Amino acid sequence: MVTIPKEQRRYCPSCDEHTDQTVKEVTNQTASPMKKKHRKRQRKIDNGYGSFPYENPANRARGGSNPTSGNKDLQFTCTECGKSWKPNNSIRAAKFEIER
Ligand SMILES: [Zn+2]
Repeated sequence: MVTIPKEQRRYCPSCDEHTDQTVKEVTNQTASPMKKKHRKRQRKIDNGYGSFPYENPANRARGGSNPTSGNKDLQFTCTECGKSWKPNNSIRAAKFEIER
């Protein structure tokens, strides 16, 4: 279990200094269909490559087990300028909780 505090003092890219910020987890956010990742996958589906896409999700990780943890999308909101930003290095955890 990974627990992080809801209010943190972090660097704000807009203010260019350390400010008090609140964190929230972003969920149900659909990826843009114009992203390179999505276009690459769609090209593989259209043209076909090997046995891609795999019909059985259990066969995604060949020879290994499926991942039990995932990257969490976090969004920090600065209390001084009101702008929000996303960190490039996300937290990877199976169980994740924001302390309040
Ligand atoms: Zn700020």
